Amino acid sequence: MGNDGGSIPTRRELVKSSKGERTSSELFEQNLLNATFVWSTCILSKKPLQLPIVSDYLGRLYNKDSVLEWLISPENFGDGDATVPHIRSLKDVVELKITKDENSGKWICPVTGKELKAGGSKFVYLPECGHVFAESAFREIDTDNCLACGSMYSKANVVTINPTTKADVEANKARMDRLISEGLAHSLKSTSNKKKRKNGEDSKEKKDKKKTKSMEIIRNEETLRMTTKVLESVKQSINGRKRSEAVQDLYLKA
Ligand SMILES: [Zn+2]
Repeated sequence: MGNDGGSIPTRRELVKSSKGERTSSELFEQNLLNATFVWSTCILSKKPLQLPIVSDYLGRLYNKDSVLEWLISPENFGDGDATVPHIRSLKDVVELKITKDENSGKWICPVTGKELKAGGSKFVYLPECGHVFAESAFREIDTDNCLACGSMYSKANVVTINPTTKADVEANKARMDRLISEGLAHSLKSTSNKKKRKNGEDSKEKKDKKKTKSMEIIRNEETLRMTTKVLESVKQSINGRKRSEAVQDLYLKA
């Protein structure tokens, strides 16, 4: 009774809200997971993280050798397609330059000295050079240059490592959406280069093949023409001989 008219929720709204709830609970589970697993384990190989480490656009961490193996032999990773469907080449990851504390061997921010660990400070990296910092390092120094190597970076390209808030998860995804629209991979390398070159090669190959084929046709036609000519002259000489033999016969007969 109270639900008639416009107050009845449409199927679309129900689906939308249940989907929304699922997303936030998934996010919550992800947050719990982030606390331990993702900071210590390569989520592709399930092996302990060890340098060299690469990261994807989501800010997840992987052992570089595991990613290389994944790219070469994906069949070795049972759930690889579900875990890293977006890693199709090395352009889809950035190798991180992580500072190691000389005494403790722990991974730290080279500016603040904060430790890179589960449940610790928010850490980010610059895809332009791969250097890793606690986000707070940039709050103190406003610069367009990497605080470790001095190379230029864009604030819009900074990636949050293992983000725990919805805003940071979305920011990493929105950044990737923008890069795709600009024809760039997560590593900021062009995604179209390879395709263009490949297409170029393809069309060149096709042209070459066409050229070879038409050359063959010409050669065949020439051979045919020459063969016909030879055959004709042979025929003529046979005919001629036959005629002269016939004439000779006539004379002999006479
Ligand atoms: Zn740098």
